[in-house]
Amino acid sequence: MANGIHFRSTRAEINRDALVHNAREIKTQAGDHRVLGVIKADAYGHGLITAAQALDSELDAFGVAFIDEALRLREAGIIKPVVLLEGILSGEELPICAHYNLQPVIHQQSQLDALLTARLVRPVAVWLKVDTGLHRLGWPPEQVKSVYQQLRQCPNVGAITLMSHYANSGDHGHPLTQAQQKLFEDICAMTEITVNVSMANSAALLTTAVELSSMNGEWMRTGITIYGLPPSEDFASQLSIQPVMRLIAPVIALRTIPAGESVGYGSTWTATRESRIATIAIGYGDGYPRHCKNGTPVFINGQRAPLAGTVSMDMITVDVTDLDKVEEGDEVELWGPNLSVNEIAKWADTIGYELLTRVSPRVPRVAV
Ligand SMILES: *Cc1c(COP(=O)(O)O)cnc(C)c1O
Repeated sequence: MANGIHFRSTRAEINRDALVHNAREIKTQAGDHRVLGVIKADAYGHGLITAAQALDSELDAFGVAFIDEALRLREAGIIKPVVLLEGILSGEELPICAHYNLQPVIHQQSQLDALLTARLVRPVAVWLKVDTGLHRLGWPPEQVKSVYQQLRQCPNVGAITLMSHYANSGDHGHPLTQAQQKLFEDICAMTEITVNVSMANSAALLTTAVELSSMNGEWMRTGITIYGLPPSEDFASQLSIQPVMRLIAPVIALRTIPAGESVGYGSTWTATRESRIATIAIGYGDGYPRHCKNGTPVFINGQRAPLAGTVSMDMITVDVTDLDKVEEGDEVELWGPNLSVNEIAKWADTIGYELLTRVSPRVPRVAV
């Protein structure tokens, strides 16, 4: 990696045009609603600054998990509002929030106390989070009115947005989703907040955009769809979004083995016929999941080929016996436009979100 030169061609291509296309598609779907682009965890592994720069003129605000991620955005010259989705971890962060227009989520008492006792040169906009059933962060519904009033009266506080987060929005028609939505609407009515509200994530944008249109100006918090993935395959056809990341690695060796021989650590795959095996320069040390089972597809020269043998740290092995022609140096797509990361995730018993965020720093992100 010295001087940014990489001799190994294993890389994650990040398609800036696809980011912009997806953002526009989401904005269209969101209609009157505002869109907060969630770029936490290095923009779901795509590269924080690359993503922020591509999306800066497309979306209305950004969301990150904590202040360090937000400060990287400000250092890079991004001036859009940035929401800290986990809020502050100490009161020391508040003057920094005020200075850089970072908007913390206020989800529990110590954060409220810090805000009430701080001396800030200018007020910070805050996001008041209510727990409607995910039971991870947020105030119990019965406390929201009191917290809201304390915030309203505090000179350190500017605009207040009421927010909550769904537990099962990816699952069509889950009963908890409706219950959470109803509870949230009741709380909005109680606090008389009509404009600054935010409930929906990517999946909710796709399932409930129509029903939510009564809440004018709602903030949609979208992460995964920006990167071109439906939150789950249930939503695959609803938006014309394009995968942004293409994970690529070269074939570095080829061999033919007789029937009966096995391949890889633990000999988990055995040839049932004479087989052509391609070795590809990517492994779990790069974030390709070790949990991927035999049969997991890779995409070579326009065709799929199945994983044959256990994923090792730097390499995988693939059965290319049925492919027309594979040569050393051929580039293989592990996921991207031709192979959905959600599909690969299923082979590894996980979700696309995890695979994207786990591509390791060893793999250069190359903006194209
Ligand atoms: C990560 C996150 C999102 C984005 O979720 P997607 O499913 O990627 O759209 C939205 N809201 C909160 C609070 C989050 O933490």
